[in-house]
Amino acid sequence: TTREGHPECIFCKIIRGELPSYNIYSDETCVAFLDLFPATAGHTLLVPRAHHELIDTMSPDQVAALFARVPDLGKAVKSVAGAVSYNLLVNNGREAGQVVPHVHIHIIPRKPGDGLIR
Ligand code: 5GP
Ligand code: ZN
Repeated sequence: TTREGHPECIFCKIIRGELPSYNIYSDETCVAFLDLFPATAGHTLLVPRAHHELIDTMSPDQVAALFARVPDLGKAVKSVAGAVSYNLLVNNGREAGQVVPHVHIHIIPRKPGDGLIR
């Protein structure tokens, strides 16, 4: 939970610039970059700079700061992707489908006929 992050965490490595990413947005509390295996074009991950495996250990203020970026970022992602809607998704824990153990919000642009079930 330090600002320097976890030494082995891939999202902390992206934040530190040790792994490449296609950066979408960055500020003092969070970053956003394209998902490497996008569900749809423009699939973006919004990630707090602080390393937390689960949302459970974040303070309400940290969670609020993260979600506060959703309206503007979501609109920008939709616009660039030519999408009309988006899904927001947080897989919180391995049994919930979380693979990368650093909190992240999926922003998944949606348009008619994109092939996703829902
Ligand atoms: P989760 O299942 O943990 O909610 O989602 C993790 C997401 O991170 C997946 O959508 C996966 O495609 C993405 N991902 C995994 N490794 C990397 C990586 O090295 N770079 C980027 N940009 N995305 C990644
Ligand atoms: Zn991390």
